Amino acid sequence: MTALLPPANAAFDTHEVLNQPPALEDYNLFGTDRGLVNAAEVNGAGWAKDQLAAYGAKLGSAWAIEQGRLAHRFPPQLKLFDRFGHRRDEVEFHPAWHNIMGLIIGEGLHSAPWADPKPGAHVARAAAYVMHAQIEPGSQCPTTMTYGSVPALKRDAAIAAEWLPKIYSRSYDPAMKPVAQKSGALIGMGMTEKQGGSDVRANTTRALPAGAGGPGQEYVITGHKWFFSCPQIDAHLVLAQAPGGLSCFFMPHWLPDGTPNAIRIQRLKDKVGNKSNASSEVEFENAHGWLLGEEGRGVPTIIEMGTYTRLDCALGSAGLLRGAVAQALHHVYHRRAFQRHLIDQPLMTNVVADLALESEAATLLALRLARAFDRAEASEQDAAFRRLCTPAVKYWVCKRAPNAVVEAMEVHGGNGYVDEGPLGLLYKEIPLNSIWEGSGNVMCLDVLRALQKHPDSIEAYFAELIPARGNDKALDAAINDLKAEFADTAEMEHRARHVVEKMMVTLQGALLVRHSIPAVADAFCASRLGGDWGRAFGTLPKGTDTRAIADRARPV
Ligand SMILES: Cc1cc2nc3c(=O)[nH]c(=O)nc-3n(C[C@H](O)[C@H](O)[C@H](O)COP(=O)(O)OP(=O)(O)OC[C@H]3O[C@@H](n4cnc5c(N)ncnc54)[C@H](O)[C@@H]3O)c2cc1C
Repeated sequence: MTALLPPANAAFDTHEVLNQPPALEDYNLFGTDRGLVNAAEVNGAGWAKDQLAAYGAKLGSAWAIEQGRLAHRFPPQLKLFDRFGHRRDEVEFHPAWHNIMGLIIGEGLHSAPWADPKPGAHVARAAAYVMHAQIEPGSQCPTTMTYGSVPALKRDAAIAAEWLPKIYSRSYDPAMKPVAQKSGALIGMGMTEKQGGSDVRANTTRALPAGAGGPGQEYVITGHKWFFSCPQIDAHLVLAQAPGGLSCFFMPHWLPDGTPNAIRIQRLKDKVGNKSNASSEVEFENAHGWLLGEEGRGVPTIIEMGTYTRLDCALGSAGLLRGAVAQALHHVYHRRAFQRHLIDQPLMTNVVADLALESEAATLLALRLARAFDRAEASEQDAAFRRLCTPAVKYWVCKRAPNAVVEAMEVHGGNGYVDEGPLGLLYKEIPLNSIWEGSGNVMCLDVLRALQKHPDSIEAYFAELIPARGNDKALDAAINDLKAEFADTAEMEHRARHVVEKMMVTLQGALLVRHSIPAVADAFCASRLGGDWGRAFGTLPKGTDTRAIADRARPV
């Protein structure tokens, strides 16, 4: 009898894979992001466009994207002991983490504006940072902390002389050994304790002078930190209560005699996202630290670091948002439903255009803030703008981005919710920037504090709006409205989020009017400032040129 069964492999030949978009890879994250190119240019980093394009190409390579995926898929493991029982307090990483760290440190995102200062250096770094966030945000934690630590380290000549050359190096050296034996070094921070993170004055960790005490002197520190990211790196700035009050200490992981400092890792945090990066709980038992600044002045010392890390939170969220919007746009130009590409379906065009507006506005705002970091020393106006707007921009960009990332996920349909793709990584990462380095309320209260201590800083903010006046009725009305908002000082604490939100949306509108194309600026002002908008994305008003907005943002 003739066999009726099909050949063995034919069972798998059930269908052709149709209508699935190609992976978004081997593209240039810089050149394909017109909002970012424009933001870098208008904020004084046009000179860096070739190096940014080179980094954008590296990050967009299939190889780098795969490293980012692997680093999140295989999170770090704590290695407390070696196999003979000796205490190690080490963290083991997947090779992909080291590859990604090699990229980011090689690009100098941890220190380039300090190592090679020039006009626009912080903005150029900021643009690269926005791109890096889209591929592997976990590696930005040690990068940011190192970047932020430099002004504080410069307060102590001996520490600066030994450590800054290693920090300025672009060599990523993961070895856990004394800094003298390393080609590069990274720095973290330890503030948050179990009983309080925002309210660091509640810290209970104690520091006693080992000798005479005072700036630059050695102290012995006992206590704990409840969040202590990157315990594997070379040193942390740590807050502890000295006899003169809460103080900031430089705590290297290896002591001058070559023995390990008494920093014990308790466990690694099991975080919702940020999987590639190790965050730990630690205890110090007679650990050694060197006082940075004066006793009792720990908060101002470490807050200086926090100013830079807050900038990075805004940049990181702008990057994560751009990553999600780029993926969503890529999807809708390829995917078809009901015989048409999704981009040709008016309601979907409305959704992705609305997301694109949010993304371009976030990027432009965050890079404008970075410009204030470039110019703060030379210009009192930029210094005032930085003081007032760093917490405001951090609050607003980090607050808006999660909603938009969720919408971008939905644009992908079911694929968006599957963790194999890039949306899962972006989605799990995106709430973090709003929480750490000062959560939302704390940022808004900081804005009020800046206004109270430096009432004239509001002039620096309005100076950004004035050149945009007379171009858009909704924007003009919002500027007038804000003046009334500031004039009313009743219940300011209760209204803090409301006031900061208005400040930031108006500033975004003004920046777009001045620096973007009319289709983007008009739609942003009509929806966000004119009130012709719904409560979800995809509610831009009738007559909006949604296709022009989507085409501008499409990553091609
Ligand atoms: C992944 C990750 C990594 C981290 N890494 C580090 C690290 O390396 N080093 C480090 O020091 N910390 C780190 N943190 C800790 C982080 O900075 C703190 O969690 C954050 O500052 C908030 O502190 P908290 O958790 O104690 O919350 P709380 O201070 O208890 O705040 C809880 C809530 O109350 C709000 N709130 C506080 N005060 C007020 C007020 N006056 N009015 C109204 N609302 C208020 C806050 O906005 C917040 O929403 C990390 C956190 C995470 C999630």
